[in-house]
Amino acid sequence: MANFDLMRRLTRPEGGRIILLVMDGLGGLPIEPGGQTALEAAETPNLDKLAVEGTTGLTIPIARGITPGSGPAHLALFGYDPLRYDIGRGILSAFGVGLHVDVGDVAARGNFCTVDENGIVTDRRAGRIPTELNARLIEKMRSIEIPGVEIVLATEKEHRFVLVLRGDGLDYSVSDTDPQVTGKPPLEARALKPEAERTAEIVNEFVSKVRQVLKDEHPANMVLLRGFATDPNLPKFDDIYKLKAACVAVYPMYKGVSRLVGMDVLETDAHDTPADEFRRVAKAFEDGYDFVFCHVKGTDSRGEDGDFEAKRRVIEDVDKALPILLELKPDVLIVTGDHSTPASYKSHSWHPVPLILWAPATHLPDRVERFGERACANGGLGHFQATDLMPLALAHADRLDKYGA
Ligand code: ZN
Repeated sequence: MANFDLMRRLTRPEGGRIILLVMDGLGGLPIEPGGQTALEAAETPNLDKLAVEGTTGLTIPIARGITPGSGPAHLALFGYDPLRYDIGRGILSAFGVGLHVDVGDVAARGNFCTVDENGIVTDRRAGRIPTELNARLIEKMRSIEIPGVEIVLATEKEHRFVLVLRGDGLDYSVSDTDPQVTGKPPLEARALKPEAERTAEIVNEFVSKVRQVLKDEHPANMVLLRGFATDPNLPKFDDIYKLKAACVAVYPMYKGVSRLVGMDVLETDAHDTPADEFRRVAKAFEDGYDFVFCHVKGTDSRGEDGDFEAKRRVIEDVDKALPILLELKPDVLIVTGDHSTPASYKSHSWHPVPLILWAPATHLPDRVERFGERACANGGLGHFQATDLMPLALAHADRLDKYGA
């Protein structure tokens, strides 16, 4: 991981501007033996030019052979050891929708679900109800009161919402109520250590009141809770790296992980294309940010759909829009993914992730001539831990002092 004490000591408040462009789940595998990956098959003249001019490599998100979730994979790109900072889903969701969570508050990720007359879960996502219905149900649930605890609820998207409990003596060491399968009733929340007994009781009381409030609704007539967590109080970007950092992302979770590390989250629209997002990066530079993290979700979503061609097209859209970023003349532009999502897997995988580090004043060009998994395997950066990326970015932006005399 990035050594934060060393970073605090060596980082300069002035220096070049950095863009970190993350195509979620960028890495992939050939769809057939001997074939190309989606990235290799994509027409990407702009990315290929960056690969020719810059330095390339493959990152290891967590450890060799470990398939990451997007939360820990992004923490790693930001320099945080994801095995040390194990962030609960609840806190990512809460920060993602911009809820205030203090150290000691307890946040959980909620799903609206459908249960039958015997209380058995028949759909864990309640048919992915529209966000508008979610908002109406949340409004109803705001009538629920439990003595001694403040209950904060917020709509996330479709069937997803966030619960935050605020009060004295709460503890997040509580088990999920989501059974993860249909055909079973929701689970009772259990305390995972004695100090969390009261919190588990509050959660169970809350859930039983929700059941009453939603009993005449359909299909969303119950909720499932998981990922209980509190603010992990991570070191922040301005403290460790002396960067004024911003996030351009459309999906709430990525805004959440960015807020956790102290980035400002810029306004986006749910329908933003890569080109729209890149124009927001331009605005961020105008507004004086010197580090912008820009997140493109489509590569991962299409990979999870198992749609190789659609994933390829997302990569081509990013390539077409890339001149918007290049016109900003960033001192450092990094293009990579947080992990691999091969269309043939329809899920995340452990395979290392291609990366370009382009910094015209400081990079050492290698002999790689295009952006792709196998090309980057021959790159000058070799295989390296994603947590080493931030020190490399800072060095290439001339933001690190010498270590020792
Ligand atoms: Zn991801």
